[in-house]
Amino acid sequence: MKIEKFEVGESINMLCSGCDVEQDHTVESVTKQGKITKAICQVCATSSTFSRGVKTSVAMGGSKTASPYDRTRKYRKGQAMLHSTFGQGEVTAVIEPHKIDVLFGDQTRRLIHSQN
Ligand SMILES: [Zn+2]
Repeated sequence: MKIEKFEVGESINMLCSGCDVEQDHTVESVTKQGKITKAICQVCATSSTFSRGVKTSVAMGGSKTASPYDRTRKYRKGQAMLHSTFGQGEVTAVIEPHKIDVLFGDQTRRLIHSQN
C-alpha cells in the first residue's frame, strides 16, 4: 500500500470488483493517518472497505453481480466472483499459477484457478 495520504471526497483510480476494471472511486472515509478505509466506485457504486491497507469487505453496487466462479478461468487480484458455496468473494492474492486466495465476507479461502 502506498504511503500517500488521502482525504474524504478525493477521487482515486483502482480496480473495482464490480466493474472488473480500474475505475474512479470516491474516498468515503480515511484514518487519521490518511489511509483509506472506505471507497465507492463512481460507475457502479460498489463500496470497498479497508483495514491497514488491506481490503476487508466489498459490497456490490445495486446493479452489479459477480460472475460465477469458474476454475478454468484465470483470475487476477481484485476480481470478484460468485461461489456456489461461499457466496460473493474477491480475489485478494494469486498464490501460485493455479491457486488464489479469495475473500468471502470476512473469511479467506484458497481456490484453484486457471485449470484446464
Ligand atoms: Zn465499479
